[in-house]
Amino acid sequence: MNGQPYRIVRCPSCGKTSRYDETNPNRPFCCERCKTYDISQWADEKFRIPLAHNEQSSEDTLSESEDLDSDDNS
Ligand SMILES: [Zn+2]
Repeated sequence: MNGQPYRIVRCPSCGKTSRYDETNPNRPFCCERCKTYDISQWADEKFRIPLAHNEQSSEDTLSESEDLDSDDNS
């Protein structure tokens, strides 16, 4: 009546089913290649974070044009 003695999960990298237990050192990934690939994706995301600081300077530009608008109205 018991189900599988191990869990089947979806590989976050390729979407294939992978075995989630001690016999799979790359869990939840299905293989070492998927694991390495995912880590390289993570590194990519980290490099993008510093770019977010640019949004603050664009906000400055926005409030500046707002001032010009209200000047026009009055
Ligand atoms: Zn995979």
